[in-house]
Amino acid sequence: MSTDCISSNLSHILKSVRDQAESVNRHADSVRVIAVSKTVGADKIMEAFDCGQAVFGENRPQELYEKSQSLPASIEWHMIGHLQSNKVRKAVGSSDLIHSIDSVKLLNRINDAGRELQKVQCVLLQVNVSGEESKFGIPVEDVERIASNLGDLPNIRCRGLMTMAPYGASEDELHRVFSGLRELRDRIQETMDLPLPELSMGMSSDYRIAIAEGATLVRIGTAIFGTRKGTNGV
Ligand SMILES: *Cc1c(COP(=O)(O)O)cnc(C)c1O
Repeated sequence: MSTDCISSNLSHILKSVRDQAESVNRHADSVRVIAVSKTVGADKIMEAFDCGQAVFGENRPQELYEKSQSLPASIEWHMIGHLQSNKVRKAVGSSDLIHSIDSVKLLNRINDAGRELQKVQCVLLQVNVSGEESKFGIPVEDVERIASNLGDLPNIRCRGLMTMAPYGASEDELHRVFSGLRELRDRIQETMDLPLPELSMGMSSDYRIAIAEGATLVRIGTAIFGTRKGTNGV
């Protein structure tokens, strides 16, 4: 994928996402594309923004913060990467949605930062559906317990669940992981009476399967901006 045709990459992805949603009997507008702009310079982000893309995802709080300060205020910023406790204030100050909540400790820190900044922070719980040891995310069996504590955290609003499929997973495994997240969401919604409308799942290589399994947010980097260079690629 070349990096000098962001507008055509973007329009291709937006169309493909709508087409895929309709082909699985979902509304074309039911899936939002988050343009993952980690390592991508401001000029390229502006190129996508000028084509109408207004939602961007970053995986490092410092980079997200700096971009949010210098780029148009109407951009919606999503924090999608692992969040360390000491970076929480920066993330809460500049993120519209944090996808990567993987511990109770992090929830408590975000609630504290939200109180100080007078902000109710929208979050997703990141779930380790596949059980892979190398991945961040809450084990499936712990998600309900963590969700049951959300009522005690007034500066947090949980909007749904997020997952990452294991690298190199087969199509069958991808279906299993993404449907697993949806079923977990359905179960929690039902038993706890907690609305969780968002399912953040699917990247450049697997978003079609994620949409078939109910994704409402797909996180697309490479297919829009081209292949990343450097060490911040994951
Ligand atoms: C980098 C990243 C993506 C985007 O990956 P692509 O394969 O480039 O689309 C999605 N989600 C997370 C959490 C990421 O870190």
